[in-house]
Amino acid sequence: MTAVRENEHLVQFYEDEAFLLDNVSEFLGNTLSKGGSAIALARSTFLAGLEARLTEAGLDVEDAQRAGRYTTLDAHDVLKLIMDGRQADAGRFLTLFSGVIDDAALAGRPVSIFGELVSLLAEDDNHEAALHIEQLWNDLLVTRTFTLYCAYTLESLGPNGMTKHSHDICGAHTRVVPAESYSAQLTEDDRTQAIVELQAQAAQLKLEIEARQELEKQLVAALAAEQQARQQAETALHQRDEFLSIAAHDLRTPLTVLYGHLQLVLRRLRRDETIDREAMTEALGLVSAQADTLTMLVNQLLDTSRLDQGKLEVHREPADLATLVRQVVERRQPATDKHTITVNAPARFDVQIDSLRMEQVLTNLLDNAIKYSPDGGPIDVTLTMRPDGCTELAVRDRGIGVPPDLCERIFDRFFQVNGKQYRSGLGLGLYISRQIIEQHGGHIYAELPEGGGSRFVILLPDAVPDDD
Ligand code: ADP
Repeated sequence: MTAVRENEHLVQFYEDEAFLLDNVSEFLGNTLSKGGSAIALARSTFLAGLEARLTEAGLDVEDAQRAGRYTTLDAHDVLKLIMDGRQADAGRFLTLFSGVIDDAALAGRPVSIFGELVSLLAEDDNHEAALHIEQLWNDLLVTRTFTLYCAYTLESLGPNGMTKHSHDICGAHTRVVPAESYSAQLTEDDRTQAIVELQAQAAQLKLEIEARQELEKQLVAALAAEQQARQQAETALHQRDEFLSIAAHDLRTPLTVLYGHLQLVLRRLRRDETIDREAMTEALGLVSAQADTLTMLVNQLLDTSRLDQGKLEVHREPADLATLVRQVVERRQPATDKHTITVNAPARFDVQIDSLRMEQVLTNLLDNAIKYSPDGGPIDVTLTMRPDGCTELAVRDRGIGVPPDLCERIFDRFFQVNGKQYRSGLGLGLYISRQIIEQHGGHIYAELPEGGGSRFVILLPDAVPDDD
């Protein structure tokens, strides 16, 4: 081992205990053979190994002990004495060791100490107390003359030890001796090579740590994405179940009404000799209206499934939107006697649209306007060209209106504003309408006009109006 100077506080890192025993026995043996005092503060097994090696080296250990020149202290017992929980008690430490050192230094004998207290604390992951004890040794070195040899296993520094704790430990010592794999290199060249290898290993480790941290981040992100996907799948499942029960209910209602009217018509036909044409026409008209509702609901289901599969297509062709609007209004007006639907549109309004799909959207908006204004009132349909060149088609009613915070959500699939009294559809009409309008390159939205009710606006780009 390298020569240890007086008043030096040296720290030795080591990998193998046999190596440490060799070094410590040489260190203390040198002191003893020169007539000095040695203090060994270690685990009992280490003390036993030390004694064996000193004896092997020809030293009379028992004689040195009797003469007060070789003192052994069980490190575990000392820790029990000086520790107060996880902290070292400075008073107890200084009292104990100033006494031990003063005794050993009698007659001006040089004193060498090997101490393992700090190593035991570090193994116990109590790095704070270990560092405190190193400082206390340094305090003693101010008032007393001795040489102190501390040792730490590399393992005791823990997985992040070399970066976290080794810096502090080295700072508390006057000299640092690297572990044997480095100290064993004899020539300067070998040492330089060892340093280069260590640097390469450190760089490699740094890269590995960074790669692991990156992987960890990716793992956390993947986990979060997976959880989100699972939540979405669960929500979708829940929505589907809810939808199935609503759909079954909503399809059954018109079917029941339809069936009831048909039964009535059949009974009359069987019973009456003469047929009351007026009553029969009225009853069959009701049957037809229910069949229309059923057809509309089933068509909405089909459209939704087409949308899911990306198969709902619009085919834009030249068409007169003004005429189309008037035709749709004429067809819907008979459905209500509480509402008056008025159209404000030019005579012609040439656009490129899928007429059937646009008719479907407008029918849906008119049906909603009727459905959601149960007290009746005017419904205004306006068709204009805006200054920016967009076609604006709007349906305004005086009904219950849409809650302001739900103006966007009503376009979601299956979304229906709470309030069962008005609920008679599947919550798909506006969803499908928005998809159709967006496929035209346009936009549809709801607004809440002054005076109550709601206004649904369709904006289509690139219209060519004819203001004849
Ligand atoms: P539904 O078949 O339920 O009418 P829609 O997709 O057509 O489905 O409409 C979604 C929801 O938007 C409706 O349930 C209703 O709450 C609300 N809504 C649609 N149009 C109007 C309107 N003109 N006035 C008030 N609320 C409306």
